[in-house]
Amino acid sequence: MDRILKRLQQYCTIEYDKSFKNLTTFKIGGIAKYVIYPKDEFSLKSILDILNENNLAYKVFGHGSNLLCDDEIYEGFIIKLTRNMSNFYFADNELIAQAGCSIISLSYKASEKSLSGLEFASGIPGTLGGSIFMNAGAYNSSMSDIIDSVKVIRNNEIVWLSNSQCQFGYRSSVFLNNPDWIILEAKLILKPGNVADIKKLMKNRQQRRMASQPLNYPSAGSTFRNIGDIFAWKLIDEIGFRGKTVGGAAVSEKHTNFIINKGNAKAKDVVELSDQIIEIIKEKYGIEMIMEVEKFNWKN
Ligand SMILES: Cc1cc2nc3c(=O)[nH]c(=O)nc-3n(C[C@H](O)[C@H](O)[C@H](O)COP(=O)(O)OP(=O)(O)OC[C@H]3O[C@@H](n4cnc5c(N)ncnc54)[C@H](O)[C@@H]3O)c2cc1C
Repeated sequence: MDRILKRLQQYCTIEYDKSFKNLTTFKIGGIAKYVIYPKDEFSLKSILDILNENNLAYKVFGHGSNLLCDDEIYEGFIIKLTRNMSNFYFADNELIAQAGCSIISLSYKASEKSLSGLEFASGIPGTLGGSIFMNAGAYNSSMSDIIDSVKVIRNNEIVWLSNSQCQFGYRSSVFLNNPDWIILEAKLILKPGNVADIKKLMKNRQQRRMASQPLNYPSAGSTFRNIGDIFAWKLIDEIGFRGKTVGGAAVSEKHTNFIINKGNAKAKDVVELSDQIIEIIKEKYGIEMIMEVEKFNWKN
């Protein structure tokens, strides 16, 4: 392994034995043995060559705001683009940004340029890459509304995919079925707008989030997907789970589709709580709940 790490170090910084508590917004999980920060796109390509050549597992992390990591050690490599691959620029009403950019910060930068379209994302704590991966959205808008094209490393090749090639759907995209592809960059098309109106809308969205979401606790956002026009929070409320706890995990009193970490929650607490929700809703309504939060490094 020392020889491999030495080769990798030409292309990235490596941090060792980092807790997933510091790599996710849920603040839950075991240890990531290696966390690597590629220097740039070309370095990332060389890194993937080395990892693939040696059959080593890897996973790209954005801000870890949609991830529930197991309590165990992950022996593979976590790749983070947030440090060195987070540049962006505007060209008229286009925004070209690297995958490691914070989507919240891009939405504020766009507002400063009087560009509309990213207001919905101003409270989503992910990166551009993570937001494209799951077609993040809110208030009837989603990333697919503004994506023109996405640059990815796919099967060792760098290619641009058009919006339709990304196969966006409700919280889904082609990337979910191809977890070894890495999103590098995207071109977003925004619309000229009025700064005051854009800022007003963003403030309104922020106030709605603060009023309805438990932002003072660590979480990974909505736990379950809505089912058509049935809201997941409503079903969870109806089965009497508001405030229900398992270990350090709890269904939020404020928003029942948020499972929160009330302090030192284990991944298994969250899973036990969500499994109970899935089972009871299936029994009572015959509805199959689907997790929106992604479980990572789970052995079973
Ligand atoms: C308080 C709170 C509020 C939230 N509100 C919303 C909301 O309103 N709407 C919404 O949709 N989501 C919401 N979320 C969930 C989350 O913020 C989004 O899903 C976000 O898009 C995840 O981005 P990330 O960078 O954190 O991705 P991560 O959680 O780090 O990763 C998620 C997935 O994306 C993959 N991925 C990340 N980067 C790349 C890349 N460059 N290339 C390929 N794959 C990649 C990862 O491998 C992983 O499979 C919320 C979360 C929290 C904590």
